[in-house]
Amino acid sequence: MTLKRRSNSGDQFAWICRHPVHLGRPKQTSVRHNSIFRRSKVSLRKWIHFMYRFCQGLRLRQIDMMADEIAVSSATLSKMAKKLRDVCVTAVERMRRRTGQLIGGRREFVVIDESHFRHKRKYGRGRMTGGWKRKQWVFGMLGVQHDQGRRKPILRLVEKRSRRHLVPLIARHVRLGSSIISDEWRAYRILPDLGYNHHTVNHSRWYVEPHTGAHTQHIERAWRSYKEQVHTYF
Ligand SMILES: [Zn+2]
Repeated sequence: MTLKRRSNSGDQFAWICRHPVHLGRPKQTSVRHNSIFRRSKVSLRKWIHFMYRFCQGLRLRQIDMMADEIAVSSATLSKMAKKLRDVCVTAVERMRRRTGQLIGGRREFVVIDESHFRHKRKYGRGRMTGGWKRKQWVFGMLGVQHDQGRRKPILRLVEKRSRRHLVPLIARHVRLGSSIISDEWRAYRILPDLGYNHHTVNHSRWYVEPHTGAHTQHIERAWRSYKEQVHTYF
């Protein structure tokens, strides 16, 4: 099929097939066919606007989006947000299958940390997303590349910050022999026995990674921004 301008379509464009099998009456298919936009009554222009806001971290409140006429009701906005989240979840799962989400190794050191998230619901009502509790431990593993300083964050919800909950995640995502930097939390004391080079850092001091000179100060800043994003999305 070819993409043609179509004034009779609300989207301005449609897929057209002029194959003789259609007996001179070209077959027309919506550009939304097989996409996340099918069955949505919201215009594509508004969708794009919404996606732009979503990528900014949904900082714009629902009421502002309604004022901006991105959607006329909060039910519609919730549905749109859910569609985009589904797209993100699918993409992350695909990446997880492809890469196994492994960090560490010789070219990368790994910073680990747990933090307590207080779940703030953005829009007063609606259910919690993805198994979140009101207070929730999030365990983060951050791979930092020595040469380019590129960062790969892996964040996981954990029930408790006990060794039993944290260590299996480290074993699964951090390559053996990696250098791991953490605070002095006792759950991590076992790391050298498991085949990691473990460096501890006192939170009140700055730690300088020997290979790169990367300050934990920088890393804490990165954490803060990841945490903000986590807050924004859930
Ligand atoms: Zn056809």
